[in-house]
Amino acid sequence: MSLDLAQSFVDGIPLPSVFVGADARIMAANKAALTLNANAGQQRPFVLVFRQPGLIDALEACLVQGDRQSAVYHHHDGPHNIRYDVTFSKVSGGGMHGVLLCFTDVTHMLQADKMRRDFVANVSHELRTPLTAILGFIETLQGPARNDPEAQERFLSTMSSEASRMNRLVGDLLSLSRVEENARMRPTASVDLDQVLKSVLRNLSTVAEENGGTFTYSAPEALPMVVGDADQLVQVFMNLVENALKYGGQGTHVDVHLSETPRDHVLRTPALLISVSDNGPGIDSAHIPRLTERFYRIDSHRSREMGGTGLGLAIVKHILNRHRGRLQIESTLGKGSTFTVILPKKQENRAPSGTLS
Ligand code: ADP
Repeated sequence: MSLDLAQSFVDGIPLPSVFVGADARIMAANKAALTLNANAGQQRPFVLVFRQPGLIDALEACLVQGDRQSAVYHHHDGPHNIRYDVTFSKVSGGGMHGVLLCFTDVTHMLQADKMRRDFVANVSHELRTPLTAILGFIETLQGPARNDPEAQERFLSTMSSEASRMNRLVGDLLSLSRVEENARMRPTASVDLDQVLKSVLRNLSTVAEENGGTFTYSAPEALPMVVGDADQLVQVFMNLVENALKYGGQGTHVDVHLSETPRDHVLRTPALLISVSDNGPGIDSAHIPRLTERFYRIDSHRSREMGGTGLGLAIVKHILNRHRGRLQIESTLGKGSTFTVILPKKQENRAPSGTLS
C-alpha cells in the first residue's frame, strides 16, 4: 500500500492521527501527532513509539478482531499532564490495510467537569451550614425554648442573620452566573467613573459609620469616560470598598484614588487606575494569587462572621475580564492592602494576555 496515500489520509484529519499498518508499524502520522510524539514519523514499530500498555493492547485487539477500540493516552508536556482519548478504527480496502488512531485531548473537559463538581460541593457546603443552624434553632424553639420569650428573641435574631447569609450567597451566585453569561459581550456604554465611585462611597457611608471607618476620595479633574457597564462597575467598587471596611478592622481608613496612566504594562494601552487602599492588617503574599478564586478565604470563620460569601472578588475578577481590565493586589502585613482596578481607556484596545485566570 502507498505511504503517500496513508499520509494524505492522516493529513486530512484535524486531530493528531496515526496510521498503523497490518504489520504494527507506523506508516504515517500527521503534524499534530508528530508534535505529540516526534518518533511517530519514523515508520517504527508502534510498540516502540507509544509505549503505554493500554494503547498497545487496543491496537492488537483492533488488528486481530477488527472492531473499533478505544484507550487512554497520558502525555506529559513539561509540568502539564494531558489526557487523550484515542480511537482505533480498522481500515481495510482501497489499497489500505491497518488501523487509524485519532487522539482527542480531553484534559479541558475533565478539568471543567472537576470544577463543576467542586463548585456544586462548595455551594452545597456553604448553604448547608446556615441551613443546619436554622433547623437546630427551629427544633429548640419547638422544644426547650417553647416558653422562653427571651431565648426565642435571641434565636430568631440568629436565624434571621443565617437566612440573610443564605440570601446573600444566592444573590452572589446569581450575579456570578449573570456576569459569566455575558462574559464575551463587551460593554458598550460610556461610564463616568467619578460618578460611579462617588455613588459607591455614598451608599457605603452607613457601613463605614458602623465600623468607625472613614473614607478619602481623590481624582484628577476632567477624566475621560470609560467604556463599561455602570451597574457592574458599581458592583466591583462596592465589593472592594466593603472588603476594605470589613477586613481593615474597626476604625479603618479607606482611601480611594483615581488616576491615569499613558500605558499599562500588562494591558498595553492607556488606562485608568482606581486604587482602594486600607490600613488594615494586610494579607500574607501566599494568599494573594488565590483571592479571586470562588470561595477562597484567608480566614473562613472571620469572613462568615462578617457576612462574607467568598464570592466577592471572584465577581470582581469576572466583571473586569469582561471589561478587558485587570485587578492588581498589593499588601504589606501590618500596614494594609491596596486593590487596584485597571481599566483600558478605549474600547478598541486589544484583550490583555495573562490577566486574571
Ligand atoms: P468574602 O465574601 O469572604 O469577603 P471575597 O471574595 O470578597 O469574599 O474576599 C476573599 C477573601 O479575601 C476574604 O475572605 C478575605 O480573607 C480576603 N480579603 C479581601 N479583601 C481584603 C482586605 N481589604 N484586607 C484583607 N483581606 C481581604
